[in-house]
Amino acid sequence: MKFGFDIDDTLIKLREHAFHIYNKNLKQNVPIDVFHELTRVEIHEPFGLDAQQGADMWNRSLEEIYYTACPPYPGAVEALVELANKGHEIYYITARPREHGERTKKWMIEQGFPVQEDRFFCGMKDQEKVEIIQSLQLDYYFDDKPDVLNTLSSEQLKAFVMNQSYNQHLTIPRIVDWSELPKIIENID
Ligand SMILES: [Mg+2]
Repeated sequence: MKFGFDIDDTLIKLREHAFHIYNKNLKQNVPIDVFHELTRVEIHEPFGLDAQQGADMWNRSLEEIYYTACPPYPGAVEALVELANKGHEIYYITARPREHGERTKKWMIEQGFPVQEDRFFCGMKDQEKVEIIQSLQLDYYFDDKPDVLNTLSSEQLKAFVMNQSYNQHLTIPRIVDWSELPKIIENID
């Protein structure tokens, strides 16, 4: 089987990691509860930033957000290693800017994710992910973003949403905890 994964906020806690970085660098102390209640993907509002300031802050912080100690979700590394060990193909499809592709790949390997050189796709717009997903003929795909998941519809593909505060309205199958992955797959096949 071919499994495709988004990276940020699907396999790793990128926005939460960024939220901590914003608190530190802006010398604020916005409680983490606020993060868990956000109804949109962007995190700048609780810090009193408007959209432009938020975009600037994100871009300015990108190096620190991407390459410091962003934790994977519990069980994510283990779940993907198990899939790979069972002979399944693992693909990563991330909308991170293309110039971050190689370093991101290296960073993922350092975290223990099973990464194969030619199964790592980076630098497309969210809306373009669908073309890659289709051309790869994936059996499973996991993502957190409504904008991406809403573009996917295919007979063959089983799409799952990674549970986040901003995607509660989506009605497609949901994964809350990566340790559930083997059970989810078993129940489908
Ligand atoms: Mg994502």
